[in-house]
Amino acid sequence: MAKRLLVFGAHADDETIGMGATIALLNELGYEIQVVTFCWSKEKDWQDTGYARPDWRETIAEMRRREALEADKILGVRERVGLGLPTQGVVNDKATYQHVVELIRRFKPLAIFTHYYRDKHRDHRAVSHITTEAWWKASEKVLTDKGEPWKATSLFFYEIFDLFTRPSHVADVSNTMYRKVEALRCFKSQMPVLSDVISYVEGLAMARGYIIGVKYGEAFLSSNFMPTRLEKTLESLEET
Ligand SMILES: [Zn+2]
Repeated sequence: MAKRLLVFGAHADDETIGMGATIALLNELGYEIQVVTFCWSKEKDWQDTGYARPDWRETIAEMRRREALEADKILGVRERVGLGLPTQGVVNDKATYQHVVELIRRFKPLAIFTHYYRDKHRDHRAVSHITTEAWWKASEKVLTDKGEPWKATSLFFYEIFDLFTRPSHVADVSNTMYRKVEALRCFKSQMPVLSDVISYVEGLAMARGYIIGVKYGEAFLSSNFMPTRLEKTLESLEET
């Protein structure tokens, strides 16, 4: 069976900024990576409201569609699904929550990655809360019209601009950092807002790498929303 991972983000560049080099690394390690973006869509009628220049109003949605798919190719994302919500419009309501339960059950991931709940962006916080709760609810014998129950073993938060004081995990991304930078360059429509983002991610990756003794790292925080079975964790320690 394929080793699947599911990555949630509010906006099309979030997972690239937060964990792009880890996605590339996990792709090289044989994992199948699916991305779900709340404020993005492949559908032509979706209109994005988050644009940096007024004259981009008409063309921004198409730019965002293309940019994300280009970045996916560079990082090795298998598929990106968009929920088509407007920027600053992610709400933790019943319909969105149940839709996420359904997506988790459809993709059957080993682990889930999502935004950190202490992020200052309202969309990021909403995505974090919705996906963490859906991780738990997807594993229960409820909402049977939304697929068979599925329990992903772990859920990890990735960081963007609000950083973890003490990450629980750091990935060694020394060999895939260049792919993250390349993928970030695809998001040209974001560059007026995120002009120095490439220097930022490189600096942060060096700081995160330092704490595990490698050149570049990306940090994660494991969620304790659902406990991990102790004996399973001990078993995985034996393997390493
Ligand atoms: Zn975002």
